[in-house]
Amino acid sequence: MDIHLTRAWVQAIAAAMDQHKDHLTQLDSAIGDADHGVNMQRGFTAVVAALDGYEAVGVGDVLVKTGTTLISKVGGAAGPLYGTFFRNAGKQLSGPTADAEQLSAAFDAGLAGVQKLGAAVPGDKTMVDALVPALDAFGAAARAGESDAAAAEKAAAAAETGMQDTTPLQARKGRASYLGARSIGHQDPGATSTALVFRALAEVLQ
Ligand code: ADP
Ligand code: MG
Ligand code: MG
Repeated sequence: MDIHLTRAWVQAIAAAMDQHKDHLTQLDSAIGDADHGVNMQRGFTAVVAALDGYEAVGVGDVLVKTGTTLISKVGGAAGPLYGTFFRNAGKQLSGPTADAEQLSAAFDAGLAGVQKLGAAVPGDKTMVDALVPALDAFGAAARAGESDAAAAEKAAAAAETGMQDTTPLQARKGRASYLGARSIGHQDPGATSTALVFRALAEVLQ
């Protein structure tokens, strides 16, 4: 992964949020307040604008800029949570390139920030249910000496499984938790956008 590919990743996320905006909002209308697609689409549009003309020295600069923009531009739960993920991950990556093991450690730092801020654990029916399996898969591949592309492909597949596995869960964090048992039977919007984030990474690195 280098600076150019990191920018391409963020642009691919923005394109995915454009494409899946209505689906994400539909999922959020079932168990939330019907704004997740709009939040993510607006947020990543602002990120692409903020990165235009921004001089990055390291891979991490791109991710920190992504995170701080999401934190400042996106309301609701997801903006600060995704913002913290990218910002904390970016803070770990000072070089012009990052290998799979460095990315894995950075993503883990991002997840730690998300869990510190939102206090969600796996099984709470949140983005953490896609993030944790994605980062576990990424880390296992990286430690086995696989390329960042191979690790990202495994992370995307794991995130997609984690996303699907949120459907039978009862939400214990976020707006959906207000519904109690009525949150059961619906896929979590934030886990769905997390799967898009890792699918975008796999596509850019392939
Ligand atoms: P809001 O709920 O404020 O309208 P969004 O609709 O943009 O924000 O995002 C909702 C998503 O945020 C949920 O589907 C869930 O995945 C995620 N989320 C909510 N609360 C938490 C939390 N405490 N920890 C992790 N993720 C959370
Ligand atoms: Mg919402
Ligand atoms: Mg909202």
